[in-house]
Amino acid sequence: MSQNTEKLQIIEREIRKCEKCSLCKTALQAVPGEGSSTAKVVFIGEAPGATEDKTGRPFVGRAGNLLEKLLEKINLSREEVWIGNIIKHRPPKNRDPLPEEIKACRGYLENQLAVIKPSLIVTLGRFAMNHFYPEGKITKDHGKLIKLHNFNVFPVYHPAAALRNRSFAEALAKDFLNIPNVLTELSKNEKSTNNTMMAKPLL
Ligand code: SF4
Repeated sequence: MSQNTEKLQIIEREIRKCEKCSLCKTALQAVPGEGSSTAKVVFIGEAPGATEDKTGRPFVGRAGNLLEKLLEKINLSREEVWIGNIIKHRPPKNRDPLPEEIKACRGYLENQLAVIKPSLIVTLGRFAMNHFYPEGKITKDHGKLIKLHNFNVFPVYHPAAALRNRSFAEALAKDFLNIPNVLTELSKNEKSTNNTMMAKPLL
């Protein structure tokens, strides 16, 4: 087992016994997230829904099926990426998470991202985008690469919203097709930064 996988499992165990907010009392189980511990791209949603709560896995309901189909279109599988949520226990009746719940839970995702170190974070929906980029507007900023000081964020519509609205579905499909180009650009930039560092004369 790789060191990264071990580190993620330690965080997962902490999440499963967490009682920092009351969501653990109403949810059936925690949904810590899953996928590659060295993923180049991670997909982050808001919080588990009913199917996720039952199975303990992220994005496995109808929205999850759509996410998998979109991943297939860009030649990625669930195993190659990492998928998770900002909130790890399901809010009752899928209500919006409260500010104190977000505050209590945020350290877990931060720690998971610190282990995985993805090149790109694809945020699914308005809530996840605003977690990283509070001033963003999903209608205006979806499909744009946003370079923050510690993360590269690519907001797209939530698959659940796409299931309800045809124009969101079209925008989501189009933005997804652009993810490979964004990853290529980011990897070129990473390489050129590394080369520049290597080319620096020794003083
Ligand atoms: S939602 Fe997050 S903070 Fe609240 S109990 Fe679950 S893991 Fe802990």
